[in-house]
Amino acid sequence: MSKLDIVQIPVLHDNYVYLAHDQESQATAVVDPAVADPVFEELDRRGWTLTHILNTHHHFDHVGGNEEIKARTGCTIVGPRADRDRIPGIDIEVGEGDTYALGNAVAQVYDVPGHTRGHIAYWFADSDALFCGDTLFSMGCGRLFEGTAETMWPSLQKLMKLPESTRVYCAHEYTAANGAFALSVEPKNPDLQARMAEVEALRAKDRPTVPSTLGVELRTNPFLRPMSPEIQASVGLPGGELVEVFRRTRNAKDNF
Ligand code: ZN
Ligand code: FE
Repeated sequence: MSKLDIVQIPVLHDNYVYLAHDQESQATAVVDPAVADPVFEELDRRGWTLTHILNTHHHFDHVGGNEEIKARTGCTIVGPRADRDRIPGIDIEVGEGDTYALGNAVAQVYDVPGHTRGHIAYWFADSDALFCGDTLFSMGCGRLFEGTAETMWPSLQKLMKLPESTRVYCAHEYTAANGAFALSVEPKNPDLQARMAEVEALRAKDRPTVPSTLGVELRTNPFLRPMSPEIQASVGLPGGELVEVFRRTRNAKDNF
């Protein structure tokens, strides 16, 4: 039972990079370092020594800092086995069913393809923390660049089984725009209305809306809710198959 201290670092336009620090072992990981300098500034501020990079997928706004950080720290880079050729500096390949120990904090690894072919998520059960990259966002999900509804919907279903208390550390602050779309397909959802009010208040103060929790996402995120009759009606598939409702909802978001 080792709990991580997690620090959120906003970088670029709307990316979040995370530090995850295990007090017991002093192991410290950076998750999806888009860039290097802000990571070193935060490490200095905390007095932590970086030991690991955890990557979720190959996009440049998630691995852009890999090589510089590895060169300066000698850290170990962990990333998706299915995309090992596209993760700069990868040392350890992980995938579905694997666990990876960051010091004494253990992550369960899930393959969550759809946004990219080799996307993975790290769930640190004892810390109630999910690092899901660009698979699940608050009130949204990643675009289907290298996958289809048939690959993404099962990926999201894996994450939906985690405890509702799980904090969802996604990699972008897209929440307000996601919420505007969510309200367009499920305007009568009271949980969604309440979450949007909260999100607007946070953004007005320039505060992050991330992490949310899986419970909030299950109640408000249209991509986790193809079973909602209101969403089914909005996309023209009342009583439709969930994967088809998901596909139409994703297409509608792409054109929103
Ligand atoms: Zn991405
Ligand atoms: Fe991204």
